[in-house]
Amino acid sequence: MNVRPLAAVVGVGTELITGIRTDTNTAEIATALLEAGYRVTETVRLADDVTLISAALRRLTASCSLVVVTGGLGPTHDDITREGAAHALGLSLERDAGTEERLASMGLRHQDTDARKQLLKQADVLIGATVIAPTIGTAPGQIVSTATGTLVILPGPPHEMRPMLATFLTKTRRTAPPARLRCAGTTESDAQVRVQRVLVRHPGIGLTVLASPAEVEIVLFADGAGARGVARAATAVREILGDDCYSDDGSSLAETVVRLARMHGVRLSLAESCTGGMIAAAITDVTGSSDVFVGGIVAYSNAIKMTGLNVTKTTLAAYGAVSPETAAEMAMGAMRGSGADLALSVTGVAGPGGGSPDKPVGTVWFGLSHSGECRTWRRDLFGDRTAVRLRATVHALDAIRRELQKD
Ligand code: ATP
Ligand code: MG
Repeated sequence: MNVRPLAAVVGVGTELITGIRTDTNTAEIATALLEAGYRVTETVRLADDVTLISAALRRLTASCSLVVVTGGLGPTHDDITREGAAHALGLSLERDAGTEERLASMGLRHQDTDARKQLLKQADVLIGATVIAPTIGTAPGQIVSTATGTLVILPGPPHEMRPMLATFLTKTRRTAPPARLRCAGTTESDAQVRVQRVLVRHPGIGLTVLASPAEVEIVLFADGAGARGVARAATAVREILGDDCYSDDGSSLAETVVRLARMHGVRLSLAESCTGGMIAAAITDVTGSSDVFVGGIVAYSNAIKMTGLNVTKTTLAAYGAVSPETAAEMAMGAMRGSGADLALSVTGVAGPGGGSPDKPVGTVWFGLSHSGECRTWRRDLFGDRTAVRLRATVHALDAIRRELQKD
């Protein structure tokens, strides 16, 4: 059985505990390890305290085959990760000649002899460690073999940590990377139940379901199965998810929309009320979206709905701004004169105020005009103002995506 090796991530720095700096490294490292086929079981943040570091590393190196530590490798008095690791593993530190030489030439910048000496502290590595030379910064990374696995020590600044982590991972990647299937238009629970039914026939595959507002990501891991097993399971899962799955290569919903629009030669335009330009922002976030996105109008007031989109006063008076009639006129208005082939409109009650018994907060009408037809539909979205707007944005992008897939 090809079971995923266990891994832990440790962030060292009092500034991370107190919240003075946000710890982004541990999450980034954990995700990278996950993608490299490890099962990350623990993430720890520690103050600059040699006893704490030593105790944590002793415990984690005993239970995990990989422990990655970040931070506390600098030249100042509080950078004591090296000492903590040495103590935990019962190894002494030795000066790495190559690093010392490199640092000595940099040390010429410092006037004070103690400052020069302190800088050289960074050349101390655990006996037997493989040194990862920095491409930026001064502190080298270290890879040390322990009795039960590997300890990797990386500097704290993210731009120094990243290239070293990549260097380590290219050397060690062993198991199959997970398959990631992104979905919209289904709930977390529905997706999970459907996927689990399929996975019964695919032993050795682990499943994680990650949900964000209106989106679900299915992650399939090799948990005994090999790379071919993961690929086979991903194909079967994709089939059961059908049109709800929009990507298997990590691309976002907006990226998928832009790709499909380009593929079919369809130019897009928008008429946004309650989303206030969020759909346009998501599309224009994609590089090259200018090929397919002509633009949109944020028509928040009734006045702009009329002057900007030709929604009639009669429609607004008779049915209100949040209605299928207004949504349809908004979508058609966004088509007129824009040169677009497909236009989508959104008008809804994002809350917290503005709801009524027949149009409570979360009532959103969508309109889609394409190929000479215009249709409208209603969604009752839940959550606070932020959630309603975000769900409306995702739903709108997904509606465009599904329409483009029909072509
Ligand atoms: P240096 O050689 O720069 O001193 P170092 O390994 O000692 O490197 P630290 O002193 O621990 O690194 O951290 C330096 C800076 O790097 C911190 O002030 C912080 O801005 C950033 N940093 C450290 N750890 C993290 C982390 N876990 N997440 C995000 N940023 C971090
Ligand atoms: Mg530090």
